Amino acid sequence: MNPFANTLAQLKKAAELVKLNPNIYEIFKTPQRILQFSIPVKMDDGKWKVFEGYRVQYNNARGPFKGGIRYHPQADLNEVKALAALMTWKCAVANIPLGGGKGGIKVDPEQLSNGELERLTRGYTRAVKDFIGPEKDIPAPDVNTNAVIMGWIVDEYSELVGYPVPGVVTGKPLSLGGSLGREAATGQGGFHILQELSRKLKRDPKKTTVVIQGLGNVGYHFAEAAFKGGYKIIAVADSKGSIYDKRHKGMNPKNIIQTKQKRGLMDGCYCVGAACDCEHYKRVTTKQLLELPCDILVPAALEEQITGANAGRIKAKVVLELANGPVTHEADEKLNKKGILVVPDILANSGGVTVSYFEWLQNLQNSYWSEQEVNQKLAGVMSKAFHDVWQQKEKYHTDLRTAAYAVALNRVAEAMQAKGIS
Ligand code: NAD
Repeated sequence: MNPFANTLAQLKKAAELVKLNPNIYEIFKTPQRILQFSIPVKMDDGKWKVFEGYRVQYNNARGPFKGGIRYHPQADLNEVKALAALMTWKCAVANIPLGGGKGGIKVDPEQLSNGELERLTRGYTRAVKDFIGPEKDIPAPDVNTNAVIMGWIVDEYSELVGYPVPGVVTGKPLSLGGSLGREAATGQGGFHILQELSRKLKRDPKKTTVVIQGLGNVGYHFAEAAFKGGYKIIAVADSKGSIYDKRHKGMNPKNIIQTKQKRGLMDGCYCVGAACDCEHYKRVTTKQLLELPCDILVPAALEEQITGANAGRIKAKVVLELANGPVTHEADEKLNKKGILVVPDILANSGGVTVSYFEWLQNLQNSYWSEQEVNQKLAGVMSKAFHDVWQQKEKYHTDLRTAAYAVALNRVAEAMQAKGIS
């Protein structure tokens, strides 16, 4: 099943459960707008290359479209459509007044120089300029895009319209109107959800083991918060390798990153000279890492990591989806049957878009908040979202993903009904 078919399967399941108005269900099955375009870029050697770009605007019933831009060699329209749909439901679960969108470019950014990457980003901005803007559609970073890239988009867009428009994207540098707390927001938000869940399940963090796949923006900040919160991180992975702490003493992600930066690769020995000691770590593959016995498994890398093929071997008690779409629909059904609690992406990683919303608000008001204010507001939104979803889980006696969809579908449907769709 392709990623968009996966989201549609989940939509169908939740729509049936909440008895969604069939006309609204029909509208929810397709994006409002799909943009697909070519971006010609002059490379450093003087030759021109053409890259494929996408922006999908899924639904804006509750507010302007919102969603990141991904640079990845496997980015394609089905993936971007799925991610745009997820953004719609995610903003509704967090109860922020935004719709859902997503963008992407089929490119391996590691193969480009900085100048080529900048020209590609500016080309993308020119291609979508009539369709984005603070009142229309607000992009943000996603896999392989970051604050620097967002800065180029702000600059190009502002040049095109003739005045500064910081609110055209979120996740931008602080000097261009970024928000304090945005970088850590997705991981931090995931940590708030973990805390709420631990309280609900009466779990002691000190006796809770955590395995994390992906140590990028999301995975690293989550790991840092979980470590500070007393959870035992027993295994981590990035795209280059994974390590497992056989003694279950718990790893400090800061040490891992420091050694990784010094040594370059996560090659199974990245704790040399730091608090953790290489001897006690076992090198495992990403595949093995996902199947380790643990309390909480956190996929925080890419989608479709737990599929029908490996779901049967997952030994975690809880899967906390910090990546978007890391568990396929087929795998989800298998995990549910095994009694593994899956905390869905549209709840678990909604901290990122929540602080993006805060950033956009600050840009519109031209007034900026302290990091403490941002974090306090984030904690409030995450806690409310968790309890809203849990309530639907109990009401319908269903899994957490379907419960989160129930919250989202009802909220978006209410907005559509208020606009006259019946
Ligand atoms: P990132 O590029 O900063 O980090 C990705 C991490 O995953 C890196 O550590 C990379 O080495 C690792 N990785 C890649 N392939 C891997 C593999 N096969 N095995 C193990 N590790 C692998 O990206 P990010 O911003 O942290 O995003 C991660 C996920 O979270 C994506 O699914 C993204 O859509 C989702 N997400 C991100 C945000 C955000 O605010 N950045 C918000 C919501 C959801």
